[in-house]
Amino acid sequence: MTDTQLDVRRDFVTAPYELVSRQHRPGRSTVTVGGVPFGPGTVTLVAGPCAVETPEQTLDAALMARTAGAAMLRGGAYKPRSSPYSFHGLGEDGLKILSEVRTETGLPFVTEVLDTRDVDLVASHADMLQIGTRNMQNFSLLRAAGATGLPVLLKRGMTATIEEWLLAAEYIAEQGNLNIVLCERGIRTFETATRNTLDISAVPVVQRLTHLPVIVDPSHSGGRRDLVFPLSRAAIAVGTDGLIVDLHPRPADALCDGPQALEPRDMAELAGMMREVPLLAGRLVAAGPDIEGSRR
Ligand code: PEP
Ligand code: MN
Repeated sequence: MTDTQLDVRRDFVTAPYELVSRQHRPGRSTVTVGGVPFGPGTVTLVAGPCAVETPEQTLDAALMARTAGAAMLRGGAYKPRSSPYSFHGLGEDGLKILSEVRTETGLPFVTEVLDTRDVDLVASHADMLQIGTRNMQNFSLLRAAGATGLPVLLKRGMTATIEEWLLAAEYIAEQGNLNIVLCERGIRTFETATRNTLDISAVPVVQRLTHLPVIVDPSHSGGRRDLVFPLSRAAIAVGTDGLIVDLHPRPADALCDGPQALEPRDMAELAGMMREVPLLAGRLVAAGPDIEGSRR
């Protein structure tokens, strides 16, 4: 047995989850959503508006996503908002818009479900159910989403430890559904310069503890458009299985999360990043001092 195998076994001895652990499946799993793979060997780009607002806005956002090379669309029809006075999404009308846009663009979509009462309706439209940070420990919702058999995107609770996150995934798995993709979306820390702090170490830690794929949300982590590319590059460098990125045809008019949404003019950079992503982002490794001429 190699050291790594031994370490994985040790992790399991203390791990309280089972089905999502590496012990249950020693290799890394690929989860397929509407023909799109999430797993080892690929970096999958999911992109779209934070919220579905109108048919035109959603179609324009989907076309932007496709221009950038995204394999899948994101968009909220049910929005969890900190304030009861904010826009809470179009509900079923939003799901219908997403379904129409899928027909027009061919992009499968992921959308959030907030309430057990809506699970069947959302599942009848969506290719993948999203459980957001605020609901990561809504255990009845986890069970209901798991029971649909649809793939589930499980975002990390903003104050959840990695162990709590994997236990939440176990609730879905325990329903006989291992089509789970984890999403690191930033955690609450003392720092106020960013909306949340992207826990970049969560990616390799989680990939070692579980066979499930893990993607990164650079938009909700930083909460700032200017941080989306740097955080995306960091996530790819550290081995993320994918990215989920907010974009909007007119971020200034967005009803939700405009300040973090990429704009149409950013699509070429997003496409370019997904094509090559040089680890050093075009920089050169600094040369050391000239040893020949130096006094030792
Ligand atoms: C979202 O992706 O639209 C969202 C609300 O994300 P989070 O749950 O990570 O805040
Ligand atoms: Mn959002």
